[in-house]
Amino acid sequence: MKIFLPLLLILLTISCYQHNEILHVRTFFIMGSEFEYKLYCKNKSRCEKAVRESQERLNEIDYLFSNYREDSVLAGVNRNAATGPVTVPTEFIYLTQQSIDYSELTKGAFDISVGKLFELWKKSSKTNQVPEKSQIESALKCTGYKKIRLNKVNNTVSFDSDCLELDYGAIGKGYAVDEVVKIVKSHGIKKGLINFSGNIYALDKQTGEKGWEVGINDPFSNSSVIDFINIDNLGVATSGDYEKYFLINGKRYSHIIDPGTGYPVENLSSVTVLADSATKADALATAFSVMGREKTEEFAGINNVRGVMIIDGDRSNYEVYKSPGFKSVQEAD
Ligand code: ADP
Ligand code: MG
Repeated sequence: MKIFLPLLLILLTISCYQHNEILHVRTFFIMGSEFEYKLYCKNKSRCEKAVRESQERLNEIDYLFSNYREDSVLAGVNRNAATGPVTVPTEFIYLTQQSIDYSELTKGAFDISVGKLFELWKKSSKTNQVPEKSQIESALKCTGYKKIRLNKVNNTVSFDSDCLELDYGAIGKGYAVDEVVKIVKSHGIKKGLINFSGNIYALDKQTGEKGWEVGINDPFSNSSVIDFINIDNLGVATSGDYEKYFLINGKRYSHIIDPGTGYPVENLSSVTVLADSATKADALATAFSVMGREKTEEFAGINNVRGVMIIDGDRSNYEVYKSPGFKSVQEAD
């Protein structure tokens, strides 16, 4: 009997794990932002393996698109694509083409070629001086997604401009989330939520639950939540000026630039988008911040956007707009 007792305990443990999935939560910092996994796994090691593999993938994405690293593929492109074609990995071409497609779709509101303008405003927040009109005009000449040339046969990027600079800040995190989702699914994990600093993809919900509860940050109050949604198999992103902004002469300027005027966007305090992928939600949340409420409502109706919530105005006077798709993920079962 003594001999069989440990064996029995082991068997009990295994059967318990087989019938109950364990919620595995992991958080770490990468690319200067918090990355969070909530995954249901039959055993801990499966979850851990998926997390480890996806961390390697995130490092690869960082190496391709980071604008903080001198050695990234992006840094090489920004340095050399004005003088001739730069050979890049296929993945770089892929996300650049996707970005150009979002520019076309949003009539230029989303534009990864805002790099020069973004740098100008960033520098202005350091010198505490709003840029001169002439500086905006010269940076505008260095902007425009139509000046990006992709050669998909030779895998090269070149610029029809001597000063264009690309910036994947408005799409890269959403893309990273979708890539991690692919890895998680490839490990047989079906239920979970991936959150990269507000760029989210919710996989299947836990049996019997309404969905993954996601809080939408209150743009007027640090660390509190203004609303909740319950989602599964859906991407979400929120763009706003409450976390990242430029402070110049005591005034807050959004970190989202209107590529048409060269000035930071005003009025919309936050835009939350629901879409089939985290990449799409990320790109559209930025684009809608530029387009403003009216154009966004029109766009969302025509293009079957899954849901939009806009907080329009400032702390003292604001309105909340929710599209029918957005309301539907808030209604009780
Ligand atoms: P967050 O970084 O808070 O998730 P966004 O997804 O809206 O916010 O991305 C904003 C970033 O994208 C900016 O910090 C800048 O790097 C870049 N950017 C600014 N304006 C635009 C624009 N109109 N189109 C594309 N990228 C932009
Ligand atoms: Mg975005």
